[in-house]
Amino acid sequence: MEQNKLLEVSRLKKYFTLRNSFSGSRTVRAVDGVELCIYEGETFGLVGETACGKSTLGRTILRLHEPTQGQIFYRGKDITKADMRPYRSRMQIIFQDPGGSMDPHMRVGGLIEEVLKANGIGSGRAERRSIAEEYLQKVGLKPESADLYPYEFSGGEQQRISIARALAVRPEFLVCDEPTSSLDVSIQSQIINLLEEMQQGLGLTLLFISHNLPVVRHISDRIGVMYLGKIIELGTSDEICASPLHPYTRALMAAVPVPDPASARRARPGRIKGDIWNGSGPITGCRFHLRCPHASERCKNEEPPLMERSPGHTCACWLQ
Ligand code: SF4
Repeated sequence: MEQNKLLEVSRLKKYFTLRNSFSGSRTVRAVDGVELCIYEGETFGLVGETACGKSTLGRTILRLHEPTQGQIFYRGKDITKADMRPYRSRMQIIFQDPGGSMDPHMRVGGLIEEVLKANGIGSGRAERRSIAEEYLQKVGLKPESADLYPYEFSGGEQQRISIARALAVRPEFLVCDEPTSSLDVSIQSQIINLLEEMQQGLGLTLLFISHNLPVVRHISDRIGVMYLGKIIELGTSDEICASPLHPYTRALMAAVPVPDPASARRARPGRIKGDIWNGSGPITGCRFHLRCPHASERCKNEEPPLMERSPGHTCACWLQ
């Protein structure tokens, strides 16, 4: 079946300049040449360690950060420098800290109504209120929740509110930036289930960003593994988890806790050893070579491109 591309990025880069009165300025290459395509209706998981650039990539795709270089296409249109106002309601984001993204002085209903108004949805206050209540119910909250303040809710409920607020403007594409990281484990699965229900019920396309590989595996159709600003392996969720090719992906898999103690005793130690490049200055060769047990002279000098190993499964490693 032919899949429609919803979003495509080409050689996308986002560099930040950090200034320090003692050591001067330095450039951090948070996103450093990402190639990516997301199909309509799928959940694409982006996984990697903290500070690998995955959140910056999500925000740059939405133009919440302006790209340093490269191109972003949405439904085939180049939006790299486009006026984003027509796209804002179609491309939404939910954050790790839902409370931090809400004005504590506004009631929940007002928070949702404000976003609806900004996107030209609803002909008046009464209609916007009705939409706000409808979406609060969709995420499992009572319509009367609209009269309460964000601090009157638990972390999990606040994340439900932020999902309701994002979905009320009827987006096609939702970036979920570590949406469960700040929640208790017991609440995490409720939010994941809710996102799955919403994705299927509303036909959404999700970019799900997380450092938690089991969560990404559970929710995603395809997974991109990110390391120091670049995607180094990409494939279906089953391929990435059952047959990881890149040594970094294998190390991530080995680091996943095993629930069965007998299996855990047999499992190899999962800690990824070695130095991590600090993200500034040019890097030569494979960006994983400082930590890779298989690194050769070639790995230190030549950067491997993403190469297709089987249909739809790509990996950037000279060994594979
Ligand atoms: Fe390791 Fe070399 Fe492959 Fe990089 S290219 S992951 S250093 S074997």
